[in-house]
Amino acid sequence: MLDEEGPMSTELEPSPGTAAAPAWRPEPPAACAVSIVCPVYNEALNIAELYQRLARVLPGDDVEFIFVDDGSTDGTYEGLRAIAATDPRMRIIRFRRNFGQTAALSAGIDHARGAIIVPIDGDLQNDPNDIPRLLARLEEGYDVVSGWRRDRKDPLHRRLPSIVANRIISLISGVHLHDYGCSLKAYRREVLADVRLYGEMHRFVPIYASWQGARVTEMVVDHHPRTRGKSNYGIERTLKVILDMLVVKFLASYATKPIYVFGGFGILSLLAAVAVFCAMVYLKLAHIRDFVATPLPLVVVMLVLVGCLSVLLGLVAELTVRTYYESQGKRTYSIREVVEQR
Ligand code: UDP
Ligand code: MG
Repeated sequence: MLDEEGPMSTELEPSPGTAAAPAWRPEPPAACAVSIVCPVYNEALNIAELYQRLARVLPGDDVEFIFVDDGSTDGTYEGLRAIAATDPRMRIIRFRRNFGQTAALSAGIDHARGAIIVPIDGDLQNDPNDIPRLLARLEEGYDVVSGWRRDRKDPLHRRLPSIVANRIISLISGVHLHDYGCSLKAYRREVLADVRLYGEMHRFVPIYASWQGARVTEMVVDHHPRTRGKSNYGIERTLKVILDMLVVKFLASYATKPIYVFGGFGILSLLAAVAVFCAMVYLKLAHIRDFVATPLPLVVVMLVLVGCLSVLLGLVAELTVRTYYESQGKRTYSIREVVEQR
Protein backbone atom coordinates (compact mmCIF):
# COMPACT_ATOMS: atom_id res chain seq x y z
CA MET A 1 0.00 0.00 0.00
CA LEU A 2 1.22 3.47 -0.74
CA ASP A 3 1.81 5.52 2.37
CA GLU A 4 2.18 9.17 1.48
CA GLU A 5 3.62 10.05 4.87
CA GLY A 6 6.16 7.18 4.70
CA PRO A 7 9.92 7.61 4.91
CA MET A 8 10.36 7.11 1.16
CA SER A 9 8.31 10.12 0.23
CA THR A 10 9.93 12.43 2.79
CA GLU A 11 13.35 11.66 1.35
CA LEU A 12 12.34 12.93 -2.03
CA GLU A 13 13.75 16.36 -2.75
CA PRO A 14 11.32 18.61 -4.60
CA SER A 15 12.81 19.07 -8.06
CA PRO A 16 13.49 22.70 -8.87
CA GLY A 17 11.42 22.60 -12.04
CA THR A 18 8.23 21.57 -10.29
CA ALA A 19 8.48 23.74 -7.19
CA ALA A 20 5.76 26.36 -7.26
CA ALA A 21 7.22 29.83 -7.77
CA PRO A 22 6.32 32.34 -5.06
CA ALA A 23 3.52 34.65 -6.05
CA TRP A 24 5.59 37.74 -5.36
CA ARG A 25 9.27 38.34 -4.80
CA PRO A 26 10.59 41.72 -3.70
CA GLU A 27 12.94 43.28 -6.26
CA PRO A 28 16.63 42.75 -5.46
CA PRO A 29 18.21 46.07 -4.47
CA ALA A 30 19.63 47.99 -7.43
CA ALA A 31 23.42 48.18 -7.69
CA CYS A 32 23.46 51.80 -8.85
CA ALA A 33 21.08 54.71 -9.24
CA VAL A 34 20.82 55.12 -13.00
CA SER A 35 21.45 52.89 -16.02
CA ILE A 36 21.67 54.61 -19.39
CA VAL A 37 20.86 52.09 -22.14
CA CYS A 38 21.91 52.94 -25.66
CA PRO A 39 21.39 50.60 -28.64
CA VAL A 40 23.85 51.39 -31.42
CA TYR A 41 24.01 50.08 -34.94
CA ASN A 42 26.75 51.53 -37.12
CA GLU A 43 27.08 54.73 -35.10
CA ALA A 44 30.89 54.88 -35.07
CA LEU A 45 30.76 58.58 -35.94
CA ASN A 46 28.47 59.42 -33.04
CA ILE A 47 29.42 57.36 -30.00
CA ALA A 48 32.44 59.39 -28.86
CA GLU A 49 30.50 62.63 -28.76
CA LEU A 50 27.46 60.95 -27.24
CA TYR A 51 29.59 59.45 -24.48
CA GLN A 52 31.22 62.83 -23.76
CA ARG A 53 27.86 64.54 -23.46
CA LEU A 54 26.48 61.77 -21.27
CA ALA A 55 29.53 61.85 -19.02
CA ARG A 56 29.28 65.62 -18.71
CA VAL A 57 25.63 65.46 -17.67
CA LEU A 58 26.10 62.43 -15.39
CA PRO A 59 29.48 62.76 -13.68
CA GLY A 60 28.61 60.65 -10.60
CA ASP A 61 29.82 57.15 -9.79
CA ASP A 62 26.30 55.96 -9.25
CA VAL A 63 25.65 55.66 -12.97
CA GLU A 64 26.36 53.04 -15.62
CA PHE A 65 26.39 53.48 -19.38
CA ILE A 66 25.28 50.34 -21.19
CA PHE A 67 25.96 50.38 -24.91
CA VAL A 68 24.46 47.54 -26.91
CA ASP A 69 26.33 47.05 -30.16
CA ASP A 70 23.67 45.60 -32.41
CA GLY A 71 26.02 43.85 -34.87
CA SER A 72 27.70 47.00 -36.20
CA THR A 73 30.18 46.61 -39.06
CA ASP A 74 31.74 50.07 -39.04
CA GLY A 75 34.05 49.96 -36.03
CA THR A 76 31.43 50.98 -33.48
CA TYR A 77 32.53 48.16 -31.20
CA GLU A 78 36.21 49.15 -31.32
CA GLY A 79 35.17 52.74 -30.57
CA LEU A 80 33.16 51.59 -27.58
CA ARG A 81 36.09 49.53 -26.29
CA ALA A 82 38.35 52.57 -26.51
CA ILE A 83 35.87 54.62 -24.48
CA ALA A 84 35.39 51.81 -21.95
CA ALA A 85 39.13 51.73 -21.34
CA THR A 86 38.85 55.25 -19.93
CA ASP A 87 35.68 54.85 -17.88
CA PRO A 88 34.80 51.91 -15.62
CA ARG A 89 31.15 52.93 -15.70
CA MET A 90 30.93 51.78 -19.31
CA ARG A 91 29.44 48.38 -20.08
CA ILE A 92 29.26 46.95 -23.57
CA ILE A 93 27.00 44.22 -24.83
CA ARG A 94 27.94 42.99 -28.27
CA PHE A 95 25.43 41.08 -30.38
CA ARG A 96 26.59 38.38 -32.78
CA ARG A 97 24.64 40.00 -35.58
CA ASN A 98 22.09 42.75 -36.14
CA PHE A 99 18.95 41.83 -34.18
CA GLY A 100 17.23 45.22 -34.33
CA GLN A 101 16.70 48.13 -32.00
CA THR A 102 14.00 46.46 -29.90
CA ALA A 103 16.15 43.41 -29.19
CA ALA A 104 19.14 45.63 -28.40
CA LEU A 105 17.12 47.70 -25.98
CA SER A 106 15.74 44.55 -24.42
CA ALA A 107 19.25 43.16 -23.85
CA GLY A 108 20.34 46.46 -22.33
CA ILE A 109 17.40 46.46 -19.94
CA ASP A 110 18.07 42.83 -18.97
CA HIS A 111 21.65 43.73 -18.01
CA ALA A 112 20.85 47.05 -16.36
CA ARG A 113 21.59 47.23 -12.63
CA GLY A 114 20.25 50.71 -11.94
CA ALA A 115 17.15 51.62 -9.96
CA ILE A 116 16.19 53.86 -12.88
CA ILE A 117 16.64 52.90 -16.52
CA VAL A 118 16.97 55.54 -19.22
CA PRO A 119 17.07 54.39 -22.87
CA ILE A 120 18.53 56.87 -25.35
CA ASP A 121 19.28 56.78 -29.10
CA GLY A 122 22.90 56.50 -30.13
CA ASP A 123 22.67 58.97 -33.01
CA LEU A 124 22.67 62.22 -30.98
CA GLN A 125 19.07 62.97 -31.94
CA ASN A 126 18.08 62.82 -28.27
CA ASP A 127 19.75 65.31 -25.98
CA PRO A 128 21.52 63.96 -22.86
CA ASN A 129 20.89 67.35 -21.22
CA ASP A 130 17.26 66.28 -20.81
CA ILE A 131 18.15 63.35 -18.57
CA PRO A 132 18.38 65.24 -15.24
CA ARG A 133 14.96 66.76 -15.92
CA LEU A 134 13.49 63.33 -16.68
CA LEU A 135 14.94 61.99 -13.42
CA ALA A 136 13.59 64.94 -11.45
CA ARG A 137 10.16 64.32 -12.94
CA LEU A 138 10.34 60.66 -11.95
CA GLU A 139 11.10 61.73 -8.39
CA GLU A 140 7.80 63.61 -8.31
CA GLY A 141 6.14 60.23 -7.97
CA TYR A 142 5.98 58.66 -11.40
CA ASP A 143 7.09 55.23 -12.61
CA VAL A 144 7.55 56.19 -16.25
CA VAL A 145 8.40 59.53 -17.84
CA SER A 146 8.13 59.42 -21.62
CA GLY A 147 9.88 61.95 -23.85
CA TRP A 148 7.85 64.03 -26.28
CA ARG A 149 9.73 65.36 -29.30
CA ARG A 150 7.33 68.26 -29.77
CA ASP A 151 9.73 70.01 -32.11
CA ARG A 152 10.82 66.90 -33.95
CA LYS A 153 13.65 67.36 -36.44
CA ASP A 154 12.92 64.61 -38.93
CA PRO A 155 11.74 65.01 -42.53
CA LEU A 156 8.01 65.55 -43.09
CA HIS A 157 7.50 62.13 -44.67
CA ARG A 158 8.63 60.65 -41.36
CA ARG A 159 6.70 63.02 -39.10
CA LEU A 160 3.28 62.81 -40.74
CA PRO A 161 2.77 59.02 -40.57
CA SER A 162 4.11 59.18 -37.05
CA ILE A 163 1.47 61.73 -36.02
CA VAL A 164 -1.28 59.49 -37.43
CA ALA A 165 0.20 56.40 -35.76
CA ASN A 166 0.48 58.20 -32.42
CA ARG A 167 -3.18 59.23 -32.59
CA ILE A 168 -4.29 55.67 -33.38
CA ILE A 169 -2.16 54.19 -30.60
CA SER A 170 -3.47 56.73 -28.13
CA LEU A 171 -7.04 55.85 -29.13
CA ILE A 172 -6.59 52.08 -28.99
CA SER A 173 -4.50 51.97 -25.82
CA GLY A 174 -6.33 54.60 -23.77
CA VAL A 175 -2.91 55.77 -22.54
CA HIS A 176 -2.64 59.30 -23.88
CA LEU A 177 0.86 60.28 -24.90
CA HIS A 178 1.88 62.45 -27.85
CA ASP A 179 4.99 60.63 -28.91
CA TYR A 180 5.34 56.92 -28.27
CA GLY A 181 8.29 56.63 -30.65
CA CYS A 182 10.66 58.84 -28.67
CA SER A 183 13.47 56.65 -27.38
CA LEU A 184 14.41 58.93 -24.51
CA LYS A 185 12.35 57.84 -21.53
CA ALA A 186 12.93 57.07 -17.87
CA TYR A 187 11.62 54.00 -16.08
CA ARG A 188 11.73 52.72 -12.56
CA ARG A 189 13.21 49.26 -12.91
CA GLU A 190 10.24 47.51 -11.24
CA VAL A 191 7.89 48.39 -14.08
CA LEU A 192 10.24 46.74 -16.57
CA ALA A 193 10.69 43.54 -14.57
CA ASP A 194 8.24 41.42 -16.54
CA VAL A 195 8.22 43.25 -19.84
CA ARG A 196 9.32 41.20 -22.84
CA LEU A 197 9.76 43.07 -26.09
CA TYR A 198 9.02 41.79 -29.59
CA GLY A 199 8.80 43.42 -33.01
CA GLU A 200 8.73 47.21 -32.74
CA MET A 201 7.26 47.02 -29.29
CA HIS A 202 9.74 49.05 -27.29
CA ARG A 203 7.60 52.09 -27.91
CA PHE A 204 4.66 50.50 -26.12
CA VAL A 205 6.42 49.94 -22.83
CA PRO A 206 4.75 52.98 -21.21
CA ILE A 207 1.36 51.64 -22.31
CA TYR A 208 2.15 48.20 -21.02
CA ALA A 209 3.39 49.64 -17.75
CA SER A 210 0.33 51.82 -17.39
CA TRP A 211 -1.94 48.82 -17.89
CA GLN A 212 -0.05 47.13 -15.07
CA GLY A 213 -0.82 50.08 -12.82
CA ALA A 214 2.29 52.24 -13.29
CA ARG A 215 2.01 56.02 -13.09
CA VAL A 216 2.97 57.38 -16.49
CA THR A 217 3.59 60.95 -17.61
CA GLU A 218 5.33 62.69 -20.49
CA MET A 219 7.75 65.57 -20.80
CA VAL A 220 8.84 67.69 -23.75
CA VAL A 221 12.44 66.89 -24.74
CA ASP A 222 14.83 68.36 -27.28
CA HIS A 223 15.37 66.73 -30.62
CA HIS A 224 18.10 67.29 -33.14
CA PRO A 225 18.45 66.32 -36.79
CA ARG A 226 20.70 63.37 -37.49
CA THR A 227 23.98 64.87 -38.66
CA ARG A 228 26.11 61.74 -39.00
CA GLY A 229 25.34 58.19 -40.02
CA LYS A 230 22.01 57.28 -41.55
CA SER A 231 18.59 56.39 -40.24
CA ASN A 232 17.78 52.71 -40.18
CA TYR A 233 14.08 53.00 -40.89
CA GLY A 234 11.66 54.01 -43.61
CA ILE A 235 7.96 54.65 -43.84
CA GLU A 236 6.99 50.95 -43.63
CA ARG A 237 7.66 51.12 -39.92
CA THR A 238 4.34 52.93 -39.29
CA LEU A 239 2.44 49.89 -40.50
CA LYS A 240 4.46 47.54 -38.32
CA VAL A 241 3.90 49.78 -35.33
CA ILE A 242 0.13 49.75 -35.78
CA LEU A 243 0.06 45.96 -36.21
CA ASP A 244 2.19 45.58 -33.07
CA MET A 245 -0.30 47.79 -31.27
CA LEU A 246 -3.08 45.36 -32.19
CA VAL A 247 -1.06 42.47 -30.78
CA VAL A 248 -0.34 44.32 -27.56
CA LYS A 249 -3.98 45.32 -27.18
CA PHE A 250 -5.18 41.78 -27.82
CA LEU A 251 -2.69 40.30 -25.39
CA ALA A 252 -3.51 42.84 -22.72
CA SER A 253 -7.27 42.41 -22.98
CA TYR A 254 -7.54 38.71 -23.64
CA ALA A 255 -4.23 37.04 -22.80
CA THR A 256 -5.81 35.33 -19.81
CA LYS A 257 -9.19 34.57 -21.43
CA PRO A 258 -8.86 33.95 -25.18
CA ILE A 259 -12.03 31.85 -25.20
CA TYR A 260 -13.99 35.11 -24.83
CA VAL A 261 -12.70 36.30 -28.20
CA PHE A 262 -12.75 33.03 -30.13
CA GLY A 263 -15.79 31.63 -28.35
CA GLY A 264 -17.65 34.92 -28.67
CA PHE A 265 -17.02 35.01 -32.39
CA GLY A 266 -17.97 31.33 -32.69
CA ILE A 267 -21.27 31.80 -30.87
CA LEU A 268 -22.12 34.81 -33.05
CA SER A 269 -21.43 32.69 -36.08
CA LEU A 270 -23.65 29.85 -34.79
CA LEU A 271 -26.47 32.32 -34.01
CA ALA A 272 -26.17 33.71 -37.53
CA ALA A 273 -26.42 30.14 -38.82
CA VAL A 274 -29.66 29.60 -36.89
CA ALA A 275 -31.08 32.87 -38.26
CA VAL A 276 -30.18 31.99 -41.85
CA PHE A 277 -31.57 28.48 -41.38
CA CYS A 278 -34.91 29.87 -40.14
CA ALA A 279 -35.05 32.29 -43.08
CA MET A 280 -34.40 29.41 -45.44
CA VAL A 281 -37.13 27.23 -43.94
CA TYR A 282 -39.55 30.14 -43.97
CA LEU A 283 -38.89 30.81 -47.67
CA LYS A 284 -39.51 27.13 -48.41
CA LEU A 285 -42.71 26.75 -46.33
CA ALA A 286 -44.17 30.00 -47.66
CA HIS A 287 -43.47 28.68 -51.15
CA ILE A 288 -41.34 31.68 -52.02
CA ARG A 289 -38.05 29.91 -52.79
CA ASP A 290 -36.89 26.29 -52.74
CA PHE A 291 -33.82 25.32 -50.70
CA VAL A 292 -31.84 24.73 -53.88
CA ALA A 293 -32.88 28.04 -55.42
CA THR A 294 -30.84 30.07 -52.92
CA PRO A 295 -27.27 29.95 -51.62
CA LEU A 296 -28.66 29.84 -48.05
CA PRO A 297 -27.99 26.12 -47.31
CA LEU A 298 -24.36 26.68 -48.18
CA VAL A 299 -24.21 29.76 -45.98
CA VAL A 300 -25.66 27.80 -43.06
CA VAL A 301 -23.08 25.05 -43.45
CA MET A 302 -20.29 27.61 -43.62
CA LEU A 303 -21.46 29.53 -40.55
CA VAL A 304 -21.85 26.33 -38.51
CA LEU A 305 -18.36 25.20 -39.50
CA VAL A 306 -16.75 28.55 -38.70
CA GLY A 307 -18.65 28.73 -35.42
CA CYS A 308 -17.60 25.28 -34.23
CA LEU A 309 -13.99 25.77 -35.29
CA SER A 310 -13.80 29.12 -33.49
CA VAL A 311 -15.05 27.67 -30.24
CA LEU A 312 -12.61 24.76 -30.52
CA LEU A 313 -9.78 27.17 -31.34
CA GLY A 314 -10.71 29.12 -28.24
CA LEU A 315 -10.33 25.97 -26.15
CA VAL A 316 -6.89 25.32 -27.64
CA ALA A 317 -5.96 28.91 -26.91
CA GLU A 318 -7.02 28.43 -23.29
CA LEU A 319 -4.66 25.46 -23.08
CA THR A 320 -1.73 27.49 -24.43
CA VAL A 321 -2.47 30.31 -22.02
CA ARG A 322 -2.35 27.92 -19.09
CA THR A 323 0.90 26.44 -20.35
CA TYR A 324 2.32 29.93 -20.72
CA TYR A 325 1.49 31.06 -17.22
CA GLU A 326 1.99 27.87 -15.31
CA SER A 327 5.15 26.61 -16.99
CA GLN A 328 6.89 29.86 -16.14
CA GLY A 329 5.29 30.47 -12.77
CA LYS A 330 3.79 33.69 -14.16
CA ARG A 331 0.92 35.43 -12.42
CA THR A 332 -2.11 37.04 -13.93
CA TYR A 333 -1.77 40.08 -11.70
CA SER A 334 0.94 42.53 -10.73
CA ILE A 335 1.68 43.62 -7.17
CA ARG A 336 3.07 47.00 -6.20
CA GLU A 337 4.00 45.97 -2.64
CA VAL A 338 2.97 43.64 0.17
CA VAL A 339 2.63 44.93 3.73
CA GLU A 340 3.05 42.20 6.36
CA GLN A 341 3.25 42.53 10.14
CA ARG A 342 3.58 38.92 11.27
N1 UDP B 1 19.46 50.85 -33.94
C1 UDP B 1 19.86 49.60 -33.52
N2 UDP B 1 19.64 48.51 -34.32
C2 UDP B 1 18.98 48.62 -35.51
C3 UDP B 1 18.54 49.89 -35.92
C4 UDP B 1 18.78 50.98 -35.11
O1 UDP B 1 20.44 49.46 -32.45
O2 UDP B 1 18.80 47.61 -36.19
C5 UDP B 1 19.72 52.01 -33.09
C6 UDP B 1 20.44 53.14 -33.81
O3 UDP B 1 21.84 52.97 -33.78
C7 UDP B 1 20.00 54.35 -33.01
C8 UDP B 1 18.60 53.98 -32.57
O4 UDP B 1 18.51 52.57 -32.68
O5 UDP B 1 20.81 54.51 -31.86
C9 UDP B 1 17.53 54.66 -33.41
O6 UDP B 1 17.72 54.33 -34.77
P1 UDP B 1 17.54 55.38 -35.95
O7 UDP B 1 18.20 56.67 -35.62
O8 UDP B 1 17.94 54.71 -37.21
O9 UDP B 1 15.96 55.58 -35.95
P2 UDP B 1 15.20 56.95 -36.23
O10 UDP B 1 15.74 57.97 -35.28
O11 UDP B 1 15.51 57.29 -37.66
O12 UDP B 1 13.78 56.62 -36.00
MG1 MG C 1 17.56 58.55 -35.10
